[in-house]
Amino acid sequence: MSTPEAPPRELTPVMLSALEHYDYCPRQAGLILLEDGYADDAATVRGTLLHHRVHEPGEDNRPGVRTLRALPVWHHGLGLSGVCDVVEIHADGTVLPVEHKSGSYKPGGPADLQVAAQAMCLEERLRTTITSAVIYSSADRRRHIITVDGDLRARVRETAEHVRAVIEQTALPAPAADQRCRRCSMNITCMPKVLANHKKFATLRGALFSPAPETDWDD
Ligand code: SF4
Repeated sequence: MSTPEAPPRELTPVMLSALEHYDYCPRQAGLILLEDGYADDAATVRGTLLHHRVHEPGEDNRPGVRTLRALPVWHHGLGLSGVCDVVEIHADGTVLPVEHKSGSYKPGGPADLQVAAQAMCLEERLRTTITSAVIYSSADRRRHIITVDGDLRARVRETAEHVRAVIEQTALPAPAADQRCRRCSMNITCMPKVLANHKKFATLRGALFSPAPETDWDD
């Protein structure tokens, strides 16, 4: 008698935006996913306003290009889902996801990962092959072309697994406590410097749970 095959693993869903957060700082992803701890600053508000504009669902047609906005996408095999800001479908069949960012573009940064994951979702949904994607940066008003190669795809798969582990383990990753924290909108709730300084943290925690010294009311 043959051994029954193990059922396919039910994948915990991972949002595309979580890949970007995790790639920037694993703790940032943990705070958002586990503690609903997202906090805004001027940069994130700028980004939200920009996305309100591009997240108006719809499509338009120019000669040779059909543009879809706010397109929901998913990848069953990787358990990913999210929304593409813009997807261009060119007359020659090229499909190009375009992610809009309010800040300046950093080659090889978290935004590359996010838009590559969008490309992989679109490949599964449209049964096509996507070799390039675009980050549009409002800061320099330029389209930055990303090559969706094997290394970037491997990074997407690996990061999706890391994010899933954060969700499933329910423990917050350790703070980065480096230059990333200066530009992070969650700096106040995260308290990276306090938590990374183990000695100071132990002292503060000890003081927090110690009974207050008795007050001598006769004085
Ligand atoms: S403040 Fe620093 S450690 Fe905390 S989430 Fe932001 S980047 Fe990560």
